[in-house]
Amino acid sequence: MTNPSPPDPELYVPNATNTFSYRRIAVSYFVVVALSVLTTAFWLNRASCRTTGDCLLTAVVMTLVISSPLVVWLAWRWGQWHMQQATLMTTWLEGEFRRQVSLAGLERTRLSTVLQQMPDGVLLTNDVGQIQLLNSAARRLLQVTEGDALGRSFAEVAYHHELIDLWQKSRADQTEESITLEMMRFGLFLQAIISPIRADVGTGSLIILQDLTRIRRLETIRRDFISNVSHELLTPIAAMRALVETLQDGAIDDPVMSQKFLGRAQIEVDTITQIVNELLVLSRIESGQVSLRLKPIRVMDVVLRPMEHLQGPAARQEIDLVLDLPAGLPYIWADSDQINTVITNLVHNAIKYTPTSGKVTLSAKVKRSFVLPDSDLEQPMVVLSVKDTGIGISQDDLPRVFERFYKGDRSRQRIKADGTGLGLAIAKHIVQAHAGHIWVKSKEWKGSKFYIALPIVTDEEVQKFVHEQQNEGGLPAD
Ligand code: ADP
Repeated sequence: MTNPSPPDPELYVPNATNTFSYRRIAVSYFVVVALSVLTTAFWLNRASCRTTGDCLLTAVVMTLVISSPLVVWLAWRWGQWHMQQATLMTTWLEGEFRRQVSLAGLERTRLSTVLQQMPDGVLLTNDVGQIQLLNSAARRLLQVTEGDALGRSFAEVAYHHELIDLWQKSRADQTEESITLEMMRFGLFLQAIISPIRADVGTGSLIILQDLTRIRRLETIRRDFISNVSHELLTPIAAMRALVETLQDGAIDDPVMSQKFLGRAQIEVDTITQIVNELLVLSRIESGQVSLRLKPIRVMDVVLRPMEHLQGPAARQEIDLVLDLPAGLPYIWADSDQINTVITNLVHNAIKYTPTSGKVTLSAKVKRSFVLPDSDLEQPMVVLSVKDTGIGISQDDLPRVFERFYKGDRSRQRIKADGTGLGLAIAKHIVQAHAGHIWVKSKEWKGSKFYIALPIVTDEEVQKFVHEQQNEGGLPAD
């Protein structure tokens, strides 16, 4: 908004430096007095006065008579000029007042926007404890509407006895108080800070509620993770210790037994190595240390290697491993080693959780308008799927299979399946790093189907990539 400048003070403040009014008046008076004196002198010269007093009186009267119209005119002009200045000043003051009101409104809107957008809940109560103000975060955290909360006592709205006790303590002692509490009703962890306020507008309390639910959840995940890692490592270590103790107790002297136990020990060491390796991979992926080397690649080129690799284990379990790819599949953006890991994991799981004589099929489809979850964007993707006729996944396990260390109920599986519970978590990270998506559909005892969607590369992008590689000397020209 524009800020009109105030009228020039020189124009409306009559002071010694006000050249406009006073200089003109002084000059005018000087001219008039000089004229009067000249006229009087001329007149006195012609009509002689009797005494000096008479002469002076006559001179003063004549000066006044001659100058009076000018004085009246000047007084009128001066009054008019002051009126003008007063009008100017009033207009400016009015504009300035409007500007200040609008600035105050703007400031209020800004503060209210900040307050409403704040992730922390803010409440203000007055001296009798009634809520005077609450922002949207406070409404969300206490699950109340503005209409229900305003004007009601904080004790009626907060519902949590510890929070209410603390608020009352802060009011009584006029001290700042804080507490971390769990709002069981809403499944929230909150940190509340209550401060007494003394302002021109009155006294009361300022209550700030910080939502710690996410931080708590992350802490729980971290705790679970450490406990899971320890548990997963301790199991093979305990088995190793038992084997070593058995060997020490005499089994070492029996060549058949000792070979058997050493073979078992080897398996436990392999398990520990696998856990540690997978943990390292997961940690490197999660901390962003793995940089993908994306390039346009044929779907066939990423699936063939793992399929060939897993033919042996599939055959040993008499499982029919089928690759069913349509012709003319487009290129995808992929780091072939990483996608190799994902496919290997999915196919390996499918074989592992499928009883003898089952079937595992890897197929692919083009989806021209795939919509990623949490995005409105439609984009072309290739959807790879690994379908098995295995034991399937229970409805309880289904939402959790991509969590770190999550393993389905082994007793239900009635299958001797080893594993760390890290494979799908790693697969999920890799696919997401490719701007893709991984998900699963499964029915208990019927089988499972895991899907991965990966972005398609257009022909122009392939050509551009090849061209760039040639320019960099990476690829020989055709
Ligand atoms: P694991 O090493 O235990 O296989 P994953 O992360 O690969 O770990 O899989 C997590 C869990 O998901 C498995 O323990 C299993 O319960 C379930 N699961 C994965 N793939 C399949 C499948 N093809 N069929 C049935 N259950 C599966």
